[in-house]
Amino acid sequence: MNVVDRLVPGVTTVTLNARYYALHGLIAAEARKRNLGITAAQDLLRRAEVVVGAVSTQHYQRHHAAHEAISRPHAYDVILPKVRKGGVDIGALAAPKVYAQPNWGFWPAYRGSEMLLRIVTRANEIAPGERFDHAAVRAGLDGVLGLVNERTLDTDTLDTNAELCVCGSVDSPDGAWLAELFSSPGADSNATRAGVRRQTLRMIARVVQLTEVRRVTRDISRFVAYDPVAFDDDVLAGIDLTAEWRGLVLRNASTTAWRGLWAWLVNSIEGLTTRADLSDRFAAALPSVTTKNFQDGLPSTLTDTGRPAPAEHDPDLAATATPLWSLSVLLLGARRARELTGHELHGFQGHDPEDILEELAPTWLADRLDDWADRPLRDFARWLTMIMIDRSQRLALAKARPDPKNGTLKIPTRVHTRDELVFRDSTETAGAAALRWDQLAGILAGMGVLARDEDVWTLGPRGDLLV
Ligand SMILES: [Zn+2]
Repeated sequence: MNVVDRLVPGVTTVTLNARYYALHGLIAAEARKRNLGITAAQDLLRRAEVVVGAVSTQHYQRHHAAHEAISRPHAYDVILPKVRKGGVDIGALAAPKVYAQPNWGFWPAYRGSEMLLRIVTRANEIAPGERFDHAAVRAGLDGVLGLVNERTLDTDTLDTNAELCVCGSVDSPDGAWLAELFSSPGADSNATRAGVRRQTLRMIARVVQLTEVRRVTRDISRFVAYDPVAFDDDVLAGIDLTAEWRGLVLRNASTTAWRGLWAWLVNSIEGLTTRADLSDRFAAALPSVTTKNFQDGLPSTLTDTGRPAPAEHDPDLAATATPLWSLSVLLLGARRARELTGHELHGFQGHDPEDILEELAPTWLADRLDDWADRPLRDFARWLTMIMIDRSQRLALAKARPDPKNGTLKIPTRVHTRDELVFRDSTETAGAAALRWDQLAGILAGMGVLARDEDVWTLGPRGDLLV
């Protein structure tokens, strides 16, 4: 996740719509201009988000096609009933904890990204940043400032202001400014954040030209990681980050496998369970072979030409279930730690030397597998169970904080241990770590850089910025 953070600067898992970046900059500029205090600025921001949310909800209802690639506005489900009724009371929705829980509405979700992009200032203040283009944003979103003081928005008003919808930035001046800011033409060195972002954006733009992308993360991951075209294409080969992303996609398979294995282990705890029983359950799901024999039976991680082979998607492997599947994928990752080189290895391992040798990291696992080569796989699984339980307790203690209400220490863990016994107080869920490509594609669509046509992603009207 640290590497993802570095490779997609300005986008997180909760930044969903391009237009909010422009809107927040506009409100920061307006609050500064009018010298508003915190409460008045928060009120203005929330009313503005409600206006954009209401216009967008109405437009989304009427013109689904214009929104194929673009996320729904924030608080859509709360705003929709009001829009259906035909009158949106701005003040009622913008009241604290109605359309959004935080005082600052949806700004907290975007603020770090907006600071990084210098749309707003860094300091603890409300002001536009040096990259904010007031004229362009006014030209696109001025209508919001005209509507924030209305009591209610009727259906006609929502329809006549449809250009303020989250899809409007596809061809509006504020969208043009954002597209320029995100794609940073000219910033081609990956020594700067703008250059890193540009390389990631260029890679995604190139991939949607080379292959049919329907589901962004799934299709781009597989193409970048394994497809021969991705290796041979001159444009992709000329982008250093393509190889780094490839490494990261491969590492993501291990991360997903650890999460799946851990969730399986936790959910296998029934009432008070001994550590030995739990580890026996893991062992029982595995074949009776040596660790090395098991490794040797896994699919090949390299093609004949020495490139990464799609071992993680091998059909026989895909037909197996957790925990056997998880352990298999983890062992593939350990093998890759010794096969990958250069930018691919860099993306696979991360940049922090401590992370590379961290417990459970692929390199660590590869070294442990050497130790266990001639011993039974089932014993290795038993040992790994203990490692994971102990690690969960260490991490929980590291995150423990005093509860400010009563001073007792709160230890955030669902697994509790008493000597040999373990029990859990809730269910663990698994899931892939996000590469943030879905959010990124949606944001790029919102500024006209990408588009989606009948479920297939393409370059948008401003796609030239990335060519
Ligand atoms: Zn729209």
